[in-house]
Amino acid sequence: MRISGTGIAGALAATATPANCQSLATTEQFTQACQAFAKDVQIPNSTFVSADFIPANTTLQFPNVDPACSRPSQFVLASQNWTGRFLSTGNGGLGGCVQYDDVEWTASLGFAAVATNNGHDGMTGLPFLNNPEVVEDFAFRAVQTGVVVGKDVTKAFYGKAFTKSYYLGCSTGGRQGMKMVQDFPDLFDGVSAGAPAMNFNNLNTWSAHFLMVTGSNTSDTFVSEALWDVVHKDMLSQCDEHDGLADGILEAPDLCRYQADGLLCGNGVAQDGACLTAKQVNTVNTIFSDMKSPNGTVLYPRMQPGSEAAGAFKSYYNGQVSDKSDWVKYVVMADPNFDLTKFTPDLWGRSDALNPSDIATTKADISAFRDRGGKLLHYHGTMDAIISSDNSPRYYESVRAALKQEPAELDAWYRFFRISGMGHCSGGPGAHYIGNQRKQLAFPGRQDESVLMAMVRWVEQGQAPDSLTGTAFVNDTQGGEVAFTRRHCRWPTMNKFMGGDSNSADSWSCVAYNATT
Ligand code: CA
Repeated sequence: MRISGTGIAGALAATATPANCQSLATTEQFTQACQAFAKDVQIPNSTFVSADFIPANTTLQFPNVDPACSRPSQFVLASQNWTGRFLSTGNGGLGGCVQYDDVEWTASLGFAAVATNNGHDGMTGLPFLNNPEVVEDFAFRAVQTGVVVGKDVTKAFYGKAFTKSYYLGCSTGGRQGMKMVQDFPDLFDGVSAGAPAMNFNNLNTWSAHFLMVTGSNTSDTFVSEALWDVVHKDMLSQCDEHDGLADGILEAPDLCRYQADGLLCGNGVAQDGACLTAKQVNTVNTIFSDMKSPNGTVLYPRMQPGSEAAGAFKSYYNGQVSDKSDWVKYVVMADPNFDLTKFTPDLWGRSDALNPSDIATTKADISAFRDRGGKLLHYHGTMDAIISSDNSPRYYESVRAALKQEPAELDAWYRFFRISGMGHCSGGPGAHYIGNQRKQLAFPGRQDESVLMAMVRWVEQGQAPDSLTGTAFVNDTQGGEVAFTRRHCRWPTMNKFMGGDSNSADSWSCVAYNATT
């Protein structure tokens, strides 16, 4: 059903045939209950828009959704009995888009699932311009409100409250989950937060700053895509075997302090894509160094090595204004005509100083979430080319320091996993099929192997995930021929090849090591 209020539009997917409610035991009765619900439900400060029964194998059409959302329709595979569980999904980027695919997937698993448009429509930062209310929706209010309303609607529809409440999101969705853990600890029993866009202000500054580093594609500081390939091979030659195996994947990129000086052209003159000029070496080294303000304060960690083979050129290094610079343009500079080629280091501190609605999402004291019995499952792909995965262990370590809890104690309620060879929330050459989204399930029929259900088992049965098993397929064909599997280790251990068949997860072991970050 769809509900709108205070600028936030939302969707809730109820699932068929609640086990406790015999009066809704048939599809016809469920349909009638769904359609009659409009007359009965009263949610303060909201407007009821519609309630529809969606049979399995239906393709829903969304003609009014902003085209930038790239979600004109959603295939609804199947419905399942309500398990009593409630779940909120999140959003992505600077959107504005209901993630119907996540709603559909989790509803099919028996969750009463909610999603919102995050308080605005579309994928650009334009709605934020001089509009702090829309920014506040984006920072936390849309998810929080969607959850409060969604729980009320769930209870009203099924006639009883949910049993456990969950959150599932990645990227901006990961940040939203962390924000709920930090500021609204009572909302969820379990939160799965992937590649969270935490340290949000500086992340966006970092996203916009690459153009300052690379220059345009005609600049002498620019590094071509072909040269980045040279850099990647050089990086692998130095770092790939830190984990015991030269396989093109870094299990612990924090051990790789790569600098490109070895690629400097012998005579200082470029030689057709074989070596780098001093200015190009400086460009690469700057990208692989923490971003600092002019006074030396670290604003955001370096890009982790490896992402140059997973789309970082397209995201950030192509010498053009990144579409991820909108936050700087519309919020920080509040000028739609701001020239991002003028985003010089003296401006880099502005975003964090502004920090509207505390969108930074860096609060380290999350003891309230711990103390109410919450479980936090945090993961990040180590080839992420949009959000440096170096930022995730920084957050974990800040929690460790703030709460004075060692990993053995944090393990009881907060676990962070690095997914080697995984890009931004999905994809990559590693064993990235971990079931954090439907499209990331290794095998569609084996839902129990998903990150989502690992979180449920942790909350409901006390089975904490020791590792997250990922699968890689030949030609990256989901559900096809398995290339290899790997058990992704939880921080602060790293995966190490112990010998034998490297395609077998059993040939790897999570070991303690001395990270240098
Ligand atoms: Ca390796």
